[in-house]
Amino acid sequence: MKIVLASNNAGKLAELQTLLAPLNMTLVRQSELNIPEAAEPFKTFVENALAKARHAAQLSGMPSLADDAGLCVDAFGGQPGVDTAFYATRFGYPKGDDTNVTALLEQMQAITNRRAAMVSTLVAVRSADDPEPLIAVGRVVVQITPERRGTNGFGFDPVMFLPEFGKTFAELPPEVKNAHSHRGRAAQAMLALMRERWLDSAAS
Ligand code: IMP
Repeated sequence: MKIVLASNNAGKLAELQTLLAPLNMTLVRQSELNIPEAAEPFKTFVENALAKARHAAQLSGMPSLADDAGLCVDAFGGQPGVDTAFYATRFGYPKGDDTNVTALLEQMQAITNRRAAMVSTLVAVRSADDPEPLIAVGRVVVQITPERRGTNGFGFDPVMFLPEFGKTFAELPPEVKNAHSHRGRAAQAMLALMRERWLDSAAS
């Protein structure tokens, strides 16, 4: 089965392709089909992911999968949440992974509660007007380090410290990140939903 990924992020495509490999699904990035990015005007991950999935299904005529992810910092009342990708721009930096990390480290400099959750919400639809989207949520709780550690991954990985490994995601191999990350957990739940609802015609 071919399914459009409603994202142009190469890091995400690679991770999701690996995670969904057991289903023999081929993910196609929406940019390969000349589909522009959808607006993400909502306050919650699930609303934004659903809007992105419907948009990609509408313009491709294919099933689609969208992911909306963000960092929810305890000391900031769960912010930046859905605005995570633009976090750096609040402080006059250009949008980007590296500037985001710089802004976060600066804003947390005097903060002792370093707890944050990275949240991933995956939404899949069979068509643009699918009345029963598949929704899977995964989250991982981390401690934000005072400085960058490691070079693997992307986004906030260099400052996302996992106490159980004593390492940041950027210091761990991709397969370990996939097994323990917010997206990995959401993808496992999505895998089960797709099997049950879309692929297992014998199930009731
Ligand atoms: P988006 O939903 O892909 O736009 O991601 C929102 C923000 O979270 C972006 O700034 C990403 O860099 C960041 N992000 C998403 N997934 C990860 C991850 O697996 N590790 C670290 N940062 C991530």
